[in-house]
Amino acid sequence: MDMIKSIKGVKDILPEETPRWRLIEDAARRWSLCFGYQEIRIPIFELTALFARSIGAATDIVEKEMYTFPDRDGTSLTLRPEGTAGTVRAFIEHNRAANPLPQKYFYIGPMFRHERPQAGRLRQFHQFGVESFGTSDPRADVEVITLLWRLLSDLALPDLTLEMNSLGSSGDRAAYTPILLSFLSQREPQLCANCRRRMNTNPLRVLDCKVPECRAATEEAPQLTSHLSPEARLHFDHVLAGLTAVGVPYRLNPRLVRGLDYYCLTSFEITSTHLGAQNAVGAGGRYDGLVETLGGPSVPAVGFAVGLERVSLMLPETSSSFGNEYLYYVAAFGENGTRLGLVLLDELRRMGLSSLCDYRATTLKAHLRQADRSRCHYAILLGDDEAARGSIILRNLESKAQEELPLAGLSSLLKSRRPSL
Ligand code: ATP
Ligand code: MG
Repeated sequence: MDMIKSIKGVKDILPEETPRWRLIEDAARRWSLCFGYQEIRIPIFELTALFARSIGAATDIVEKEMYTFPDRDGTSLTLRPEGTAGTVRAFIEHNRAANPLPQKYFYIGPMFRHERPQAGRLRQFHQFGVESFGTSDPRADVEVITLLWRLLSDLALPDLTLEMNSLGSSGDRAAYTPILLSFLSQREPQLCANCRRRMNTNPLRVLDCKVPECRAATEEAPQLTSHLSPEARLHFDHVLAGLTAVGVPYRLNPRLVRGLDYYCLTSFEITSTHLGAQNAVGAGGRYDGLVETLGGPSVPAVGFAVGLERVSLMLPETSSSFGNEYLYYVAAFGENGTRLGLVLLDELRRMGLSSLCDYRATTLKAHLRQADRSRCHYAILLGDDEAARGSIILRNLESKAQEELPLAGLSSLLKSRRPSL
């Protein structure tokens, strides 16, 4: 029979890889909680209208990357392509703004985009993201950026660069767009087809195009940061000064526009030269208008999302070289040994001491072979002879040193020696 395979761009994360994923996710949770962010778990699918309205119709995601399908009654649903829209929807739906602000959330989970799969670009991928609601103070921008920087530095990811830009207010962008358009129309023949189309739908995105010809053609484009209102300029200056104060290094990148429509003011991205073409590890910015756009009160917000596949690709081997490890292998054999071994295994586990046994092995030799393969630190030998003496033999699987210990109270004794693994 034909074997059914997984979908293109959708990957299994196998047991050998889950320790490194847990390491990343645990660090993300730890740093989030340390900065005062609380976990939110939002649905994996939502009404299509939510993403269309928040992300913006003229974006890559909404134009061509969403997994959209009709529900049985015809309602259009979409697998979430990112986490901000759902978090904002939940914030509004549960009237969270009635509680004291600011409120700070984080999420971790799978996202779905129909893209051309390659290293670091999948159709089901995972993001860790944070959203800080309720303060327009530039220190909130500094806080989310610092959180991301501390996390990635803690994970020892190599060659990170933080790129910073300001998208100004919507008024600033409205004033700047015609200036940009008049520049772009002079260069139109040099632009890729996609950018010629974007000139009409989302001209700022032309600055973000990765096609070398487009980059060259827009090298001298007027910069949005030279057209900021005094308020936007001040906000940006405060963010940059804050980053310097806390020692987070950055580089200005006036071309950094980001794909999503809901950003304003601060826009940032962290890249690494270790990732090849997919060089963005994480990105974010301020989105003061989004809560209102989705039907909520006027609540300023700032956040980011980081791609965990890309973090995993960059994670140094040493931090994740450990596999799944266990403390005890219970080598129970013979009639009485086997009977007592079943109970001992359960006692050890109830104490929180990780323990294994291969039930297929019936001889000491077979058990020891499995124990050596098992990534256990010790074997507990329990045959009929030991059962008759009321004892076991504890064998250190690395040094091979052995000692005899009483079976009665064994799990408490071992717990006092090595509380856990
Ligand atoms: P890119 O320019 O790489 O397409 P993006 O601007 O679409 O990224 P965001 O929507 O800002 O990305 O998502 C934040 C992060 O999520 C990215 O920096 C990246 O690390 C990760 N990411 C985005 N799309 C994918 C994908 N298809 N596969 C794996 N990771 C992804
Ligand atoms: Mg993308």
